[in-house]
Amino acid sequence: MTASRTPYTPGRTGRPELLLILGSCLTVIAILSIVTFLLIREHANAQQDATRSATTIAQLIDADVLRTVELYDLTLQGLIAASQRDDLKQMPPQVRQLVLFDRSTAARFKGDILLLDKHGEVLADSSLIEPKPDNYADRDYFEAHVFDRDTGMFISRPFKPRCDCADSDQWRISFSRRISSPTGEFMGVAVASMRLAYFDELFNSLNIGNDSTLNIINNDGILLAQKPYLQSDSIGKSFASRPNVVRILREGSGSFNSVSSIDHRKRLYTFSRVGNLPLTVIVALSSTEVFGTWERTAMVISGATSVLCIGLLWLTWLLCRELRLRHNAERELAQLAATDALTGVANRRTLDQALRHEWFRAQRSGKPLSVLMIDADHFKAFNDRHGHPGGDDALRSLAKVISSNVRRPGDMVARYGGEEFSVILPETDSAGAQQIAEHIREAVEQLPLVADAKTPMTVSIGISTWTSASEISLEQLLFAADKALYQAKEGGRNRVVSAG
Ligand code: GH3
Ligand code: MG
Ligand code: MG
Repeated sequence: MTASRTPYTPGRTGRPELLLILGSCLTVIAILSIVTFLLIREHANAQQDATRSATTIAQLIDADVLRTVELYDLTLQGLIAASQRDDLKQMPPQVRQLVLFDRSTAARFKGDILLLDKHGEVLADSSLIEPKPDNYADRDYFEAHVFDRDTGMFISRPFKPRCDCADSDQWRISFSRRISSPTGEFMGVAVASMRLAYFDELFNSLNIGNDSTLNIINNDGILLAQKPYLQSDSIGKSFASRPNVVRILREGSGSFNSVSSIDHRKRLYTFSRVGNLPLTVIVALSSTEVFGTWERTAMVISGATSVLCIGLLWLTWLLCRELRLRHNAERELAQLAATDALTGVANRRTLDQALRHEWFRAQRSGKPLSVLMIDADHFKAFNDRHGHPGGDDALRSLAKVISSNVRRPGDMVARYGGEEFSVILPETDSAGAQQIAEHIREAVEQLPLVADAKTPMTVSIGISTWTSASEISLEQLLFAADKALYQAKEGGRNRVVSAG
């Protein structure tokens, strides 16, 4: 087929593969989006549950610490009240001891309770009736009370006692209150120390799971207690410069995920201030513990989803390939159905469709339409001389010659039947058609002679042209071309005749 015109030649009927690929991709995106959304929500739920239980633990610690500190404060207030009694000096030492430290028995993990004068000298000691002379003016709490009358109860930094007593290696903190005269003058300090083992016992009563830690820090970022210990000598050390501690001290209470600067493990930090005290409880739950179940679920779901999506895409690919093969096969079949098997030009069926199509186009546009009818001269004789296969070869050459002279995109060459060909020449007037026909005739004549033939192969051509001035039907147009061809034969063959 020399040329094809889209309206009547079999073409592509849309691309179902594209739709299929688009549909599959959208499905995969939808599946991935839903799974991602669910996993994110589950992750948030796991975090919420963990934060809730960490907050409960922090509240338990808060309550216990507050109660204990309150007991120490009562002890100090009792000591201060007793120390200001006028009759204290007249009492025998044992009685004075009883009066001074009357309220101190209830406090747990209690160390020494001291009464210091305004120079830091020991006036009374809960553990000795005759106090050992010592001076505590260099302690942080003493300095705090000397210079600030409104300090209230002061909680010291952790320290180890100076005495040579049995538990001198145990960390302590002290609670202290200023003793003021009625005029507000500094008179001394009442101080009670507490062993930090208190926090260990408190923490041991709480189960927080593996890799998680409980911590208490003061407002200077100094670690007072930890369970379990991440470092051997971290008690009393300042962590104020660590990013996590900076954030905890800044925010007061809250929760966040972060990596520990000590053991580099990921944890969920939940923290809160202990009442109005300069202490902060930090519950750091291990992320492996918090998100372990979620991670396992996420892994299974992600794996299953990936397999599902890959399967879907693979099936889509298989289907697309099948569709493409079918599409190609259909196109080939359509091509075969439209083509003459011997010569490769359009067959009669295609010619009829194209002719009707061009006819209506010409009617609409008013442009001329020419038809050539080409018939090989004395072909029966040619066949007889050269045999049927030789005749077939000649027909193929003839088709090639005609096609090579008909080159415009709208033109069509078709085998009309036997050794007859038709050419449709849209938008071509009679003169143009004659020119083309003459070229074809000459070119056929110029074809090399077939073996032992004396004369060249020739064709006779009949032309008929429809113009907007003529009032003929399509059938009449074809009949006129046939008639012109007959006239060409009658006129001696190897010639072109144009219908009246
Ligand atoms: P003319 O047209 O010049 O009057 O003479 P002609 O011999 O060509 O006349 P006719 O139309 O009667 O003969 C057509 C011959 O074409 C008949 C047949 O032998 C031959 N023919 C038709 N179709 C084929 C074909 O497909 N292959 C071959 N080899 N020959 C064919
Ligand atoms: Mg014929
Ligand atoms: Mg013939």
